[in-house]
Amino acid sequence: MQNNIRTRIAPSPTGALHVGTARSALFNFVYARKFGGAFILRIEDTDTLRSRREYENEIKAALEWLGLAWDEFYRQSERTELYERQLHRLHDDGAMYWCPHTIEELGAERAAQSEAKAPPVHQCEFRDAERGADGDGVFRFKNTADGDIVFDDLIRGEIRTRADLVGDFSIAKDFKTPLYNFAVVVDDAEMNVSHVIRGEDHISNTPKQLLLQQALGFGRPAYAHLPLVLGRDRSKLSKRDGETSLLEYKEQGYVPEALVNFMALLGWHPAGDTDVFELDALIRDFELERVGKAGAVFDIEKLNWLNREHIRMRDVEKLARELEFFVPQWSDAIAADPERWRKIVETAQERLTTLASMGEQTRWAWETPDYDTELLSWKGQEERPAIARHLTAIREKLSLLEDWSSSSVEAALRPYADAEGRGAVLWPFRVALSGEKNSPGPFELAYALGKDETLARINHAITHCT
Ligand code: GLU
Repeated sequence: MQNNIRTRIAPSPTGALHVGTARSALFNFVYARKFGGAFILRIEDTDTLRSRREYENEIKAALEWLGLAWDEFYRQSERTELYERQLHRLHDDGAMYWCPHTIEELGAERAAQSEAKAPPVHQCEFRDAERGADGDGVFRFKNTADGDIVFDDLIRGEIRTRADLVGDFSIAKDFKTPLYNFAVVVDDAEMNVSHVIRGEDHISNTPKQLLLQQALGFGRPAYAHLPLVLGRDRSKLSKRDGETSLLEYKEQGYVPEALVNFMALLGWHPAGDTDVFELDALIRDFELERVGKAGAVFDIEKLNWLNREHIRMRDVEKLARELEFFVPQWSDAIAADPERWRKIVETAQERLTTLASMGEQTRWAWETPDYDTELLSWKGQEERPAIARHLTAIREKLSLLEDWSSSSVEAALRPYADAEGRGAVLWPFRVALSGEKNSPGPFELAYALGKDETLARINHAITHCT
């Protein structure tokens, strides 16, 4: 057991938690749990203009919903002194300088460089000037590295970047306002982060962070950059393809187990032959070495399938409690007869794609079915007198039945249905109970509706045919 594993997720509270960051959180959480290490939540709120406490709360609520409990919590805005101290160290070492150029000047320089086909790296004439912070500029790191900056990525292998293409990058607006790369390096060192597992879009930041680590005398964590999450057309993920906040999935009736399973498959491949698993199994089986390099396509159909699978695997009592939230219109009926509600849930369980589809899937339970008489006819071939005869026979057999379960109902009707034709007998029975073309099977419906309601619906269907 390696007990010194420490991972972190470092979201900026400038928006809700989306799939990309949630997947990083999952992989960090799983990696830490696997080795008995710690998973850190660090809120990167140094951008005071865009950071909001309500987003932080949403991010926390989404992580909690997914079951990704953090062991330690930090907010960068509460750590200013730490960054300030380290900025002064760099400053005293002459490893940073004040660059007073305006955004317009830097833009003009970049345009000229692009024209001349030169790399877009700021060449600052104040690099060696001893100036303090004043006005609108930034502090830059004085990058004196030669050749390549190299690191071994646990997923992608060796990654090399030319130091001259990294240039002198900005690290702080002033001593009290560090920028992303600087604050991350100080925090990762200070928090003893052992593994930085994050999206591939951060690969270009890593060389900068390595240079800062070196300049500050910090150790280097291991890095693993996860493949991008792509939309169906393999372009960047769009709103339509799932750039939806995690809490919206919750509202739409996805279960957290399905999202965890789905996000794990965005890049990771289990060695076994099943794609359906829960967090415990993921922690047991997860290996960073089994994360692929190629972009992972977000496929909503896969999420829907996994959601169905996880709903089917759920404990009925738990499912019944969760579903109540999605059918507020029936809360009185549920409270009045919880046993009946449990039977309805049991019957619908196999067929739910989302929890939110419960209302639509179980209309039969709450409303007297309303249907055209033609729907009672099996494939449109059975005539009304024959349908009435079958339904009357069913009524007779069921009214004698005392023990009422889906299997006892089935057993009572099986010989008759086998003799007369299963479709001809069971189709009108099912329509009589549900009023719908598609619904759970007739035995399950009869069980959930109970004997009295079943017989009443059969009577009603008989009157349709006579
Ligand atoms: N605040 C950064 C983000 O939200 C963190 C990146 C990192 O993990 O270093 O993308």
